[in-house]
Amino acid sequence: MLERAPSSRAARSLARLAQAVKRLALADGLTPVQAQAILFCARTRPDVASVGSLARVLGTTHATAVGIVDGLVRRGYVVRRSKPDDRRVTLLALTDRGREVAETILEGNAILERALDRLPADQRTTFEQALDALSRELAAAGHLQLSEPCPGCVFLEPNAAPSASRPHYCRYFRSYLSDVETQLDCPKHTPPRTDGFRREELRLRAAR
Ligand code: SF4
Repeated sequence: MLERAPSSRAARSLARLAQAVKRLALADGLTPVQAQAILFCARTRPDVASVGSLARVLGTTHATAVGIVDGLVRRGYVVRRSKPDDRRVTLLALTDRGREVAETILEGNAILERALDRLPADQRTTFEQALDALSRELAAAGHLQLSEPCPGCVFLEPNAAPSASRPHYCRYFRSYLSDVETQLDCPKHTPPRTDGFRREELRLRAAR
């Protein structure tokens, strides 16, 4: 009888979970990739929610991302606008209808959160750490674009201007951020002590 290695069984379980997550995200007749694109618009900093970033997050080509966005614009979920300081970049934003659909998709995530809540706390922590390690491994190999909120990013200077309405400073974008803005996903999020950090630091220094 064929014995499966533990890593092979775990990979299969992950693939099944991915299928369930995709199904939970389906709303309003959207395809999984359209649902992902809507969540990208809902969670990403508005000034970096570009078609290029979407393509990287989806792991697809720019042309394919343009096609996905075309479909969402036609259905009235998304609008395009040029980035004010760089007209070559197209930014994406949800319409009211798009925000409603994003809420529906997020309700699917809540089902998953409730299932995770039923796990004992130590198992949940171990699971989260293992998924985090896997994500970083896949990102380092170029299979996944991590887009995360500011906490934990090496470029964040929390409370750099404590009395201001936007008290936190981002050294990457050289701009101040409000509490709410630091909770949005950013494709430039860089955790400490990784090759990515060294690359981003070198890039920043070169740009100065
Ligand atoms: S680069 Fe880091 S600190 Fe700056 S906006 Fe992105 S996640 Fe936040």
